[in-house]
Amino acid sequence: MALIVQKYGGTSVASVERIKQVAERVAKFKMLGHQVVVVLSAMSGETNRLINLAKEIQTEPDPRELDVLVSTGEQVTIALLAMALKDLGLRARSYTGSQVRIITDSAFTKARILDIDNQRLHDNLDAGCVVVVAGFQGVDEEGNITTLGRGGSDTTGVALAAALHADECQIYTDVDGVYTTDPRIVPNARRLDTITFEEMLEMASLGSKVLQIRSVEFAGKYKVKLRVLSSFEEDSGGTLITFEDNRTMEQPIISGIAFNRDEAKITVLGVPDTPGVAYQILGPVADANIDVDMIIQNTGADHTTDFTFTVNRNEYARAMDLLETLKPKLGAREIIGDKTIAKLSIVGVGMRSHVGIASTMFKTLAKENINIRMISTSEIKISVVIDEKYLELAVRVLHDAFELDKQPVI
Ligand code: ADP
Ligand code: ASP
Ligand code: MG
Repeated sequence: MALIVQKYGGTSVASVERIKQVAERVAKFKMLGHQVVVVLSAMSGETNRLINLAKEIQTEPDPRELDVLVSTGEQVTIALLAMALKDLGLRARSYTGSQVRIITDSAFTKARILDIDNQRLHDNLDAGCVVVVAGFQGVDEEGNITTLGRGGSDTTGVALAAALHADECQIYTDVDGVYTTDPRIVPNARRLDTITFEEMLEMASLGSKVLQIRSVEFAGKYKVKLRVLSSFEEDSGGTLITFEDNRTMEQPIISGIAFNRDEAKITVLGVPDTPGVAYQILGPVADANIDVDMIIQNTGADHTTDFTFTVNRNEYARAMDLLETLKPKLGAREIIGDKTIAKLSIVGVGMRSHVGIASTMFKTLAKENINIRMISTSEIKISVVIDEKYLELAVRVLHDAFELDKQPVI
């Protein structure tokens, strides 16, 4: 008997029919003698619908109230699944994040899980119940409802698996695993049987939304056995996130391509080149809780600096307003921004031991006349910022150039 946490995403619970199918899959695991905890997302489109309702009232919705609102989506699906399970003759109970005591900090809309009180879960499991938990949500120490950021049900799933010392956390979605890149953009993308934890961490942080980044961080920290599978197909095996790289020299250097359209670029032009400039610009940005991603600083011959960085597109307006107010203090000539950019990254642990990857990447983009606006590298990834309109073309030509569609020879 194993303890399994299964998380089902929005498309997997998009209708009553789909929910009944999830109930049947859960029942199958239960019949095999396993204990099952199920974590659910809201029906697909529901979270967006709720956010749009809020925006009809406030252009920048109050974060606390937004969390009260959007957390309702998951409450609908858990109740329906618990009913469907009972209808199949199983014992089941649904719980909201707050009822399970998923304690988070108070950073509304992007809260972090601090603690999970798993007593109630264990009691229910011991009594033979399937426990159905609302993903994406928790409660802070003052009793306020919080949510974990978009895609946060993945993190609920992995965090519960860690707290319960589950044997496996299965993430059921609308694709049958992690692919070399988003299969919606590149039809000949290839499913990976395994991907290293490090690579998955990079892919997720660089925009592959198949797993929320924090869920991968949790899996790494608590060594949760994590698998991505299809809820639409039977027994595909999916993709296992591995903690060791057992691959041989013949394995590919690049494992995948990730991209992110949610980026915007801001440049502070002509700031005097003095110590502390980066802090003067980025300190207030951080204080305003705006995440900064890539950063470039260029000093010209006239001893002024152009300082460019990227932020999440939905924080762009706030960041631009903030910098406009800082402009006189910074002594900057101008603040300019661009919301039509995208970031594309190639990821692979093999990059550690191979040279020439960057030049292949840049040559491939140059051949298509795609201008690179920013570059950043780490040991196992190379990221470029390009115009958003070239993104899909860039992903496809790079997928071909690195032959990611081909099964590596072992
Ligand atoms: P869910 O609602 O189940 O959480 P998501 O939409 O959040 O599903 O994530 C699944 C989607 O992630 C897929 O439909 C796919 O378009 C996208 N995706 C992006 N990059 C990848 C990748 N490398 N491998 C698989 N899917 C990817
Ligand atoms: N329903 C939430 C969202 O759409 C959480 C999730 O699906 O993981 O972001
Ligand atoms: Mg998701």
